[in-house]
Amino acid sequence: MSSNSGIQIPSRLPLLCTHDGVLLPGSTMRVSVDTARNMQLVKSRLLKGTSLKSTIIGVIPNTRDPEHDSDELPSLHSIGTAGLAVQVVGSNWPKPHYTLLITGLCRFRVSQLLRERPFPVAEVEQLDKLEQYTEGDPADGELGELSQRFYQAAVQLVGMLDMSVPVVAKLRRLLDSLPKETLPDVLAAMIRTSNKEKLQVLDAVDLEERFKKALPLLTRQIEGLKLLQKTRKLRPDDDKRVLSIRKGGVFPGRQFSLDEEAEDEDSDDTALLERKVKAAAMPEAALRVCLKELRRLKKMPQSMPEYALTRNYLEMMVELPWSKSTTDCLDIRAARVLLDNDHYAMEKLKRRVLEYLAVRQLKSTLKGPILCFVGPPGVGKTSVGRSIARTLGREFHRIALGGVCDQSDIRGHRRTYVGSMPGRIINGLKTVGVNNPVFLLDEVDKLGKSLQGDPAAALLEVLDPEQNHSFTDHYLNVPFDLSQVLFIATANTTASIPPALLDRMEVLQVPGYTQEEKVEIAHRHLIPHQLEQHGLTPQQLQIPQDTTLEIISKYTREAGVRSLERKIGAVCRAVAVKVAEGQKVTRSEAPTEQHAEQNTESKVEDSGIAAPPEMPIVIDHIALKDILGPPLFEMEVSERLTLPGVAIGLAWTPMGGEIMFVEASRMEGEGQLTLTGQLGDVMKESAHLAISWLRSNAKTYLLNDGSADLLEGTDIHLHFPAGAVTKDGPSAGVTIVTCLASLLSGRLVRSDVAMTGEITLRGLVLPVGGIKDKVLAAHRANLKRIIIPKRNEKDLEEIPANVRADLDFVLAGTLDEVLNAAFDGGFPSAVNHPQVLSKL
Ligand code: ADP
Repeated sequence: MSSNSGIQIPSRLPLLCTHDGVLLPGSTMRVSVDTARNMQLVKSRLLKGTSLKSTIIGVIPNTRDPEHDSDELPSLHSIGTAGLAVQVVGSNWPKPHYTLLITGLCRFRVSQLLRERPFPVAEVEQLDKLEQYTEGDPADGELGELSQRFYQAAVQLVGMLDMSVPVVAKLRRLLDSLPKETLPDVLAAMIRTSNKEKLQVLDAVDLEERFKKALPLLTRQIEGLKLLQKTRKLRPDDDKRVLSIRKGGVFPGRQFSLDEEAEDEDSDDTALLERKVKAAAMPEAALRVCLKELRRLKKMPQSMPEYALTRNYLEMMVELPWSKSTTDCLDIRAARVLLDNDHYAMEKLKRRVLEYLAVRQLKSTLKGPILCFVGPPGVGKTSVGRSIARTLGREFHRIALGGVCDQSDIRGHRRTYVGSMPGRIINGLKTVGVNNPVFLLDEVDKLGKSLQGDPAAALLEVLDPEQNHSFTDHYLNVPFDLSQVLFIATANTTASIPPALLDRMEVLQVPGYTQEEKVEIAHRHLIPHQLEQHGLTPQQLQIPQDTTLEIISKYTREAGVRSLERKIGAVCRAVAVKVAEGQKVTRSEAPTEQHAEQNTESKVEDSGIAAPPEMPIVIDHIALKDILGPPLFEMEVSERLTLPGVAIGLAWTPMGGEIMFVEASRMEGEGQLTLTGQLGDVMKESAHLAISWLRSNAKTYLLNDGSADLLEGTDIHLHFPAGAVTKDGPSAGVTIVTCLASLLSGRLVRSDVAMTGEITLRGLVLPVGGIKDKVLAAHRANLKRIIIPKRNEKDLEEIPANVRADLDFVLAGTLDEVLNAAFDGGFPSAVNHPQVLSKL
């Protein structure tokens, strides 16, 4: 049935092979293009072509899924539909592909395949006419009767649909104006038919046969609709949904809304979501947004990328604990016991935490301050936070803020971004599943800043009790009440916490531990914990106090106990190997040499009998050296101080206190001062102050060998070792003066003295911070005399009595007192009591 007149399709057509869906003449279909050949066709024909003819392509249905075999052209269905590509949309997500909107024009038969690459092109024979059918032509005989019946059935079907929908009304009008011959194709494409049935309609080249094939499909659809209407009569609202038509043109292509199967799946899914939304007990505003999004979701085809986004959003919303909370079980006495059991020492911190909890017990709606624990690493800040959650019976969640430099980490991304997510606060709430957990904001001092905004500013809103009842995450875009969340922050130093953030928090200092405290912590907590972790029992491994002390002094140098815990872990591992080996060794076997050496006590006891495996392994001095290697830290203090021009200062770092050597040397030159060791501006100024004070007082202290100026013909170099670490702060002033005084006088500084203090040009010593940490560091380093500013006397109260008893504190108000205390036998001066003179 070739056409002799009317519109002609080209006799050579590029072929688009589809394996999903059948395009029928008169209908429009969306085709996803992702195979190599089809992509080529789109790129070189559709996108490059300029004439209308170049947009006509042949669509061959029912091609085997080409994914399996992309090289060879699969066998082609002989009949296809010539179609007009009316729209091409390209996308790179999730992989490069195009989506074509094609309107079917007429059938064709492939007469000869001309080429296969880069896309197939075939010589084709047009099977349908494209011009208007002349009236009356097919209206007689059996065909006329068939077409009449088909037309009436179509009218009946459209009559059953909701005429208020514009597309249905338009379809109704079209039914009258369309030639009846086109109806089987148009309707078969619209109603619910399988691909196989559509293919049968396509293959029915003869018009009569086509009517015969399509009519039962139409009747089936009408019957199905009748049944549906009957069953849903009781729920008139649903009718509209069943009969609603997807908007999308006169020929809605692949699916008419009557295609119930997919719709049902969809609606099941969304109905479930809707139920969850209603059960989530969210506040009014959030519920409204959710319902709006749900409505949008229902109208969206699943293939749309936005569908997944909206779904994820709704899933997130229903999972949030809008009104789920735990009840606090606060008992101050129990809390005290629990805190004491979990943590040794830290009295000040525990007292403040208990106060805080007590106030909460009396007034549950407390908009209290946010506690911020500040101290060196490993002093138990995080674990106190965890204990607080435990005493309150609340969920605990830790949010690590170190290195966070994007404010969307806190407040989420807007949903318009691909891959957008809520921030860590909302994510944390979702994880814990209740709206009143304890959130530990770890390392707030390590928040960064970048082009993506300032996360500290975003945290302000989270932490401010006046604002956080309506915290709005960008992703959620509706307020979430954070006022029930208990925030605790930790930091190593307050210096790098932005002032606005610091202002909202109550800082609790957690200083480092003394050696004795560390020994206690090790024996009460760390050793039992490590034994358990390694599957050992106290009957298998014993670490005496002396050994612990040795680990602390020779293998660790820290304010906290983290590296001590690691070293104990290393000992446990080594013993675990021995114990595991011992279990295999038969009892009669003699103990290994090392075993015997370590286990001197048991050797005495067992008097010649092989050590039974239950004998504890006692870690003594030798065993420790075996396991941990030679000591990492030796006391180098006395060695360093064998030359003039060296003094020991005390420094404070976020890691705790440290002792710091200051070295000076002089050489011939023009009176220049060189400073090395990565010093900050304040430290450089201290050095200049020290030199100036010494120059002006050179005569008093007999430093200038008769020359008028101290620096005449001399260069001085001051160095602060650990050159890779940046140092700053005024507290090294007294150390620099002492070091230079030693260099210039040629006398040695006492090797057991350390000092700290800021200086002024007139030789006064001003107070400095971090005294407790500094004193503990000096004690760790076995120093005996410590010079601190007089006005820091009050800070000595914080120092544990046993440490205080070991040390000799010199409280200095002037540099003269410092020098007298730093040198053996004092520092001689020509004038007695210069400070008294200056006061007169
Ligand atoms: P931080 O958060 O201050 O860096 P952590 O809380 O992580 O330190 O503590 C490190 C380890 O030290 C934990 O195992 C903790 O139990 C232990 N620890 C620290 N201080 C104490 C203490 N006073 N009593 C008992 N254990 C402690």
